Amino acid sequence: MNTTPTEHTARIEHACSVCAVPITPGTRYRRWRWFFENIAGTVKIHPDCEALLGDHFEAWDGDTLSEMLTGWMLSEQAEAAIARCSDRAVAAGWQALVEVAT
Ligand SMILES: [Zn+2]
Repeated sequence: MNTTPTEHTARIEHACSVCAVPITPGTRYRRWRWFFENIAGTVKIHPDCEALLGDHFEAWDGDTLSEMLTGWMLSEQAEAAIARCSDRAVAAGWQALVEVAT
């Protein structure tokens, strides 16, 4: 079970749960809590990473972008997402992961 995602401005640096690129202070991020059996956790992701998940968002189980790239995500999907990404630092981090995965 997940709480509803809420949007926040980072006061300190966080690591994005999807791409691991830092969420830098002063930038917006999306956050929610998840609960599974007796475990709970917090997800913090870039808005661009939420957009990247797209149709996969509901089914997302915490896979990192690296795992998605070696799993279901096609390199064309990744390239298109990089082109759409509004944050160039995040896009550069995605690009580096694509280069490792392919
Ligand atoms: Zn991210």
